[in-house]
Amino acid sequence: MKLDVNVLRYLSKDDFRVLTAVEMGMRNHEIVPSELVDRIASLKHGGTYKVLKNLLKHKLVHHDSSKYDGFRLTYLGYDFLAIKTMVNRGVFTAVGRQIGVGKESDIFEVAKEDGSILAIKLHRLGRTSFRAVKSKRDYLRHRRSFNWLYLSRLAALKEFSFMKALEEHGFPVPNAVECNRHCVVMSLIHGYPLVQVRELQSPEVVFERILGLIVRLAEHGLIHCDFNEFNIMIDDEEKVTMIDFPQMVSVSHRNAQMYFDRDVDCILKFFSKRFNLSLEEQIDNTDNSEEDSEGSSRPCFSSISKSVGFLDRELAASGFTRKEQDDMDKFVKEEKDQDQCSEDEEDSAGMDETIVRDVVSLHLLDQPGHTVEGNEEEIKENRQSCEGQLSEPCCEAHFNEIS
Ligand code: ADP
Ligand code: MG
Repeated sequence: MKLDVNVLRYLSKDDFRVLTAVEMGMRNHEIVPSELVDRIASLKHGGTYKVLKNLLKHKLVHHDSSKYDGFRLTYLGYDFLAIKTMVNRGVFTAVGRQIGVGKESDIFEVAKEDGSILAIKLHRLGRTSFRAVKSKRDYLRHRRSFNWLYLSRLAALKEFSFMKALEEHGFPVPNAVECNRHCVVMSLIHGYPLVQVRELQSPEVVFERILGLIVRLAEHGLIHCDFNEFNIMIDDEEKVTMIDFPQMVSVSHRNAQMYFDRDVDCILKFFSKRFNLSLEEQIDNTDNSEEDSEGSSRPCFSSISKSVGFLDRELAASGFTRKEQDDMDKFVKEEKDQDQCSEDEEDSAGMDETIVRDVVSLHLLDQPGHTVEGNEEEIKENRQSCEGQLSEPCCEAHFNEIS
């Protein structure tokens, strides 16, 4: 994914106003009619069409005239809106190199005014599915791009909320800095994903530490659900940091036991293959030390004393409620008016939201036979093809100033 933020510097206030108008129109339109964009943007001196042409040139919007003349945001357009908002808020001032390609995200370094470096994660939920259906029928294509916007935003909000709550409970996670739209800003972890690590000074200690994390999460009422060598970072001191939280579930989930065991299995398998470690060996090697032998037996879900729902309230307080979870689970069909993203958006000031709400959606078609499971399948495929494509750490990062 190319993210040329240089273009950002050349975009005018009107460009952002029109881009934001397209975003607002997408709350209830998969393709936003040009006249609606014009009405929402209500540029003082007119010229929406000229601006749209410029946005089109930079691939920030996509033009579609198959049913009627209209526009929708592209990934890049959505990225720019989030980045611009963060820059306006003073969260960071420049975007650097890409440091990660996840199954459903792109991760970049960003620099603050004082030169310190953070990481941003741009969520791309449904990325493969969106690509996969490109050749299919029009309405399906539109629907997917529409969903992508909403789902990616929910994924970001969930990740941000969990990261914050976990950090407050002393878990080793990145520091959650800010969240806007589909973008989460967090501290940069100076380490490597475990999958890239060939040697460890004390593999047994790391192994125990990681298994201990799964247990502690469950004690706090949570299961990571994607706890594997791609989502665990290790630094030079062999300190462990866990990342990637959009798929976490509560221990009260009906498949909790299965998810818990799967997380444990992933770790056991990895350590067995890469470091030739198994729990049995650990038990043999640890004499009779009570602490060690306790930590070395396979974590058992049913014997963990779990505080169900413990984190729920805190998560809700940071914005991610059960409602959001339900929406994510159901792979929602349309965006409701809970959009918070442009509330603090300077460039949308004065735009007439009532126009957006009042206009009846033209293309909200039902999506028969399209289930969460189907989408997960596609996402899984994507995960396999994307994970591991990580760039090497580099010493001379190149940053593009935005303002
Ligand atoms: P996905 O949900 O798409 O799998 P991840 O959150 O797992 O995305 O991130 C993908 C990759 O990006 C990670 O494997 C890691 O290499 C890198 N990464 C993510 N967050 C950070 C961070 N805070 N600091 C450094 N690298 C990170
Ligand atoms: Mg990941």
